[in-house]
Amino acid sequence: MPAQQSTTENLKTFVPYVEKKGEEYMNDKQKEHFRQILLNWKAELMEEVDRTVSHMKDEAANFPDPADRATQEEEFSLELRTRDRERKLIKKIDSTINLIDEDDYGYCNTCGVDIGIKRLEARPTATLCIDCKTLDEIKERQERG
Ligand SMILES: [Zn+2]
Repeated sequence: MPAQQSTTENLKTFVPYVEKKGEEYMNDKQKEHFRQILLNWKAELMEEVDRTVSHMKDEAANFPDPADRATQEEEFSLELRTRDRERKLIKKIDSTINLIDEDDYGYCNTCGVDIGIKRLEARPTATLCIDCKTLDEIKERQERG
């Protein structure tokens, strides 16, 4: 299974963090910064989910033509899959916010190094540093042959 892609590329309300010299990694200001990013991201996803639901309600008209109905059903199942993906992402965002609360955010799960501000801004739900992630992907590719 490919790694779940979760990036903030669609996030409009994003202001990059400016680090002061000698600033401590994951100090309160940084934690707050990422908490805001995650909360905004979650809010946008939830809006998206709402839009999908109301769109489906609007469109759930009765098409007399079976071909039209089939097309509509296909569209709906696609939307449902999208919604499912969004829901999973929202869950992941929630558990990431928990990590911030527990002071466990921003460190690689495998080797423990700082994941880094820049990488986290691009992928706020990242749990691996770039080296471990790369290694992971190589291994995954090898296992698949
Ligand atoms: Zn690592």
